Amino acid sequence: MAGVIFVAMKNYFIKTPWWLKKVYPNYTWDIPAKEKIVYLSFDDGPHEVATPFVLDELKKAGATATFFCIGKNVVAQPAIYRRILDEGHSVGNHTHNHLNGWKTSNRIYLNDVAEAGKYIDSDLFRPPYGRISRFQASALANALKKPSVKVVMWDVLSADFDTTLSGEDCLKNVVLNIKPGSIVIMHDSQKAWERLEYLLPRLMVYLTGQGYKIKKL
Ligand SMILES: [Zn+2]
Repeated sequence: MAGVIFVAMKNYFIKTPWWLKKVYPNYTWDIPAKEKIVYLSFDDGPHEVATPFVLDELKKAGATATFFCIGKNVVAQPAIYRRILDEGHSVGNHTHNHLNGWKTSNRIYLNDVAEAGKYIDSDLFRPPYGRISRFQASALANALKKPSVKVVMWDVLSADFDTTLSGEDCLKNVVLNIKPGSIVIMHDSQKAWERLEYLLPRLMVYLTGQGYKIKKL
């Protein structure tokens, strides 16, 4: 029908709004800084193609980053997981089976986190989809036997998982929204690969050109 325009409503924020950070002040959303530092993070790996590509890009720039790994992918790709650690990056737990905390019983969720913890030794935890109940978050330390475990969210979402976007869209999502101390999320996954392959090399050039230091958490 002529004249009718459908605008796709996205069910996510590219830039995490300030009020969401206030509602969950115990989660790490960013690390406010005066200097130009940015924290790149990559979720859902290790992946046989995407993760080595990310590692090569980081190495070229002398940068370190944080990889929130899915336990079952660590089991499937032990050599790539080893490479992440050997090259000095941080890793975090992203559950064993990529469970959505809002749709999963506490018992099953926490067991899955603990299962991933057998393969991923880390104090950092990122809930898949950013969805975790307050109870689940409070029980992580016990499930992992790590009293200092931190829930790490993000400040800027590249949305590289969104198959309706182009790599250029994802690049703009990051470039237009980062500030010193931002935690940026990307994905070393099959789903995001087409966009990540475009986005990451260009983002590295942009950040280096702007004088940003790229650090792990
Ligand atoms: Zn994920």
